[in-house]
Amino acid sequence: MSNFIIRKVAVLGAGVMGAQIAAHCANADVPVLLFDLPAKDGKPNAIVDKALAGLKKLDPAPLAAKDRAAFIDAANYGSDLEKLRECDLIIEAIAEKMEWKLDLYAKVAPFIRPDAIFASNTSGLSINGLAEGMPAALRGRFCGIHFFNPPRYMSLVELIATRDTEAAMLDQLESWLTTRLGKSIVRAKDTPNFVANRVGVFSILAVMHHTARLGLGFDEVDGLTGPLIGRPKSATYRTADVVGLDTLAHVVGTMQATLPDDPWHVHFRLPEWLQALIAKGALGQKTRAGIYRKEGKQIQVLDLKTGDYRPSAGDVIPAVETMLKIDDPVERFSLLAASELLEAQFLWAIFRDVFHYCAVHLGDIADNARDIDLAMRWGFGWAQGPFETWQAADWSEIAKAIQLDIDHGRAMAKVPLPAWVFERKGVHEPGGSYSAATATLKPRSTLPVYKRQLYPEQVLGEAPSDRGETLWENEGVRLWTRPDQDARIGILSFKSKQHAIGDEVLDGLLEAVARAERDLDGVVLWHPAPFAVGANLHQVVEACKAGQFDMLERTVAKFQRASMSLKHAQVPVVAAIQGMALGGGCEFAMHSAHRVLALESYVGLVEAGVGLIPAGGGSKEFALQAHTLAQKAAGGDVFPYIQQSFQTIAMATVAKSALEAVQLGFAKPSDDVVFHPQELLYVGIRRARALAESGYRPPLVQRAVTVAGRNGIATCELMLVNMAEGGFISSYDYKVAKAAATALCGGEVETNSRVSEQWILDVERALFVDLLRQEKTQQRIAHTLETGKPLRN
Ligand code: NAD
Repeated sequence: MSNFIIRKVAVLGAGVMGAQIAAHCANADVPVLLFDLPAKDGKPNAIVDKALAGLKKLDPAPLAAKDRAAFIDAANYGSDLEKLRECDLIIEAIAEKMEWKLDLYAKVAPFIRPDAIFASNTSGLSINGLAEGMPAALRGRFCGIHFFNPPRYMSLVELIATRDTEAAMLDQLESWLTTRLGKSIVRAKDTPNFVANRVGVFSILAVMHHTARLGLGFDEVDGLTGPLIGRPKSATYRTADVVGLDTLAHVVGTMQATLPDDPWHVHFRLPEWLQALIAKGALGQKTRAGIYRKEGKQIQVLDLKTGDYRPSAGDVIPAVETMLKIDDPVERFSLLAASELLEAQFLWAIFRDVFHYCAVHLGDIADNARDIDLAMRWGFGWAQGPFETWQAADWSEIAKAIQLDIDHGRAMAKVPLPAWVFERKGVHEPGGSYSAATATLKPRSTLPVYKRQLYPEQVLGEAPSDRGETLWENEGVRLWTRPDQDARIGILSFKSKQHAIGDEVLDGLLEAVARAERDLDGVVLWHPAPFAVGANLHQVVEACKAGQFDMLERTVAKFQRASMSLKHAQVPVVAAIQGMALGGGCEFAMHSAHRVLALESYVGLVEAGVGLIPAGGGSKEFALQAHTLAQKAAGGDVFPYIQQSFQTIAMATVAKSALEAVQLGFAKPSDDVVFHPQELLYVGIRRARALAESGYRPPLVQRAVTVAGRNGIATCELMLVNMAEGGFISSYDYKVAKAAATALCGGEVETNSRVSEQWILDVERALFVDLLRQEKTQQRIAHTLETGKPLRN
């Protein structure tokens, strides 16, 4: 089969979804034409221009770096339809109205190349119905492509085939969406609202039903249905506000109109109070009022008893919290189901009704149970899908309890559980997940793209992934390989909580690198996110309390040796980064021979936040970068290059994507950005192999680095004086920032002195230990450990 290439994408509709889908394509280096209707007055592209401006203001940011917007061109259906011929993939994301979509299809069809793909982002309209609007010749390359909001961050894309969709095309599109855009695909059937929204919205309706039945408060229910049961912090009602109450109404309306035979049909309507909110324009977050609202600094919640808002509390009663924190799911569920407490009964009821709903509908809405579970994880942020939750809690016991409730009229519908439920012990097995439509186990997809995911997200009960072979380990790290991938590329993983870097990690890293130099061809520093949250501050606090500053100085020296061992190892070390890479984690990344970064990498030298400066070689690396850049520039002055890194370090700026990490100098333009985090290890291993094969040589330790010295420090201080006078920084911020400037400028030496790398390391280490002795630094560290937030003192 020939290569599948998407050179250009067109997105039709520059609304909430269209603009953000365009942004994500631009993140992935795919140029985009973003279309909307021609504006009635002003410039013809005014609607799209406004959407593009809006992209830069959205939080969380759809653009992984602001400059990506330059790869999106505005277009309109009045003058630019010819340009559609340039596009290999066209994604329609206009308003959710069948007639409007069909009108548009008729208008654009003559300009679509027969080999292009046309896909609709509809949330719930019939894909087969929409395909009717396409000329017969284009129907083979038409399908549904259902992104979730916000599309950069929500991993799920549902792909929906029609009767005529070419199977090979869909496979290629699935592979492209996975690797290029980093999305996680579930194949959905052409049923209303597809998989995730069908179950997710039912779950919201079930929560609403039982909230009303038991007379609970919305904030109380959000306390119960958030992280305590493995769901996002926004839980249920806050999520509804974020999604938009009108959007929710729309999706529920689709279920009401299109699923007349669903046994739960009577429940497919929104409660009156919610309809009243919509009627008065309180649509949630976008209108600043919905189920919740903010009054000054106070979050308030609607209270149905008074019809007015009151301060939101959301506390969970301790007895229920204790139950939910029980590790054993079997015990947890049996306690919930048997409890007399209102809150426990509520929780049992919402789980029961969703389990019931999923069991009855598995056959018609999804290929198999794994697809429902993964869709709920990827589309709604649930830690576990409904089937795996059920299976973990003892399948047969739960099935009996559900049936008993159905028989006694306690469940939301009377329909019995399907017979297969009682014939099985669960739905997920090592051999695959149950398909109710075919009464067989369905294994994972065999598409080659999934060979790139060495540790795909697994559902409970699946065969465990290959753990590889351990070569060596200590308390802090494990050095291992995946012989099926490459027996001579070591994988170095930290074992510590959040992968914080303490003594045992440093010892382990030094030993592992030495072993790799002796026995292997390369190393990948990899573990699941986060990459590393920085130094183990608990150990630092203990040592400070005991006044062991000499010991701390030795630990910092070891840290520096660890960084230098990564950089100067005789075999290439590739850092494979996802999630947070902060402080020492960032320094290890900077010292590696090469970085492969998941797009969602959050990288920064955040030491200033705890009253410190980077001293694991981070300041030194920026001084070296300035030296290298200045050598290429006329005049050779290093200071202009110090300035940006000084600001970055002094403000503890964190890159909010891999692309920003490159812009800020934590990574290099030649590093790899990987869009699907599960492909990171695969790419890392191959990158290490490629470096080894191309005759890798570590860089030489620099002996003559030109540094900015005293003038540089003085110029940084000028900036600080202004900031202090403006009240932007405290006097202690000033002290910390000056220390950072001093390290970056190579210490109090003559301007343009030439110093060795080791000299700069010695300077940053001395400044670091001096700051550690300061009470205010110790207060900052203690505060951060307690609250997770920085202290401005
Ligand atoms: P939106 O209202 O933000 O944007 C719709 C866009 O369509 C607007 O830019 C508008 O100018 C354009 N438009 C309206 N009528 C048109 C017409 N007759 N012809 C051409 N263009 C027209 O909507 P949205 O939330 O971005 O949703 C777009 C699509 O994506 C819908 O099918 C929706 O169901 C689906 N969707 C939405 C979400 C979500 O959370 N908002 C999630 C997944 C899928």
